[in-house]
Amino acid sequence: MEDCIFCMLANGQIPTDMVYEDELCACFRDASPQAPVHMLLVPKKHIGSLNELECGDAELIAHMMLKIKEIAASEGLDNGYRCVINTGEDGGQTVPHLHIHILGKRSLLWPPG
Ligand code: 5GP
Ligand code: ZN
Repeated sequence: MEDCIFCMLANGQIPTDMVYEDELCACFRDASPQAPVHMLLVPKKHIGSLNELECGDAELIAHMMLKIKEIAASEGLDNGYRCVINTGEDGGQTVPHLHIHILGKRSLLWPPG
């Protein structure tokens, strides 16, 4: 989709700190990291949010979910990690292209313990 920053990052139109990519998805580092490791896993195809997912995207989403553990292992997140999908205004979504935050290398316990 034109004018979508994550489409441009995922498809190489804008250089970024890419951690992983294949024909379906891309994972790059968040520009404003909230943890020592903070990555965004996105589909290369434009999907606005969880609310725009269709049944035909099932294989793509399964593919992305199954990649998370590989990406986490490649970043040394052996002690665990958190995945977050902000959706819509109340969910705090600021970029309208579906993305899975993957955060790790610090304790993400909530409430902090
Ligand atoms: P959201 O708030 O939509 O769940 O998350 C959007 C995330 O994208 C934020 O964590 C923000 O720091 C990150 N972000 C926004 N613009 C860019 C960008 O141009 N490059 C990268 N790598 N991350 C971005
Ligand atoms: Zn997009």
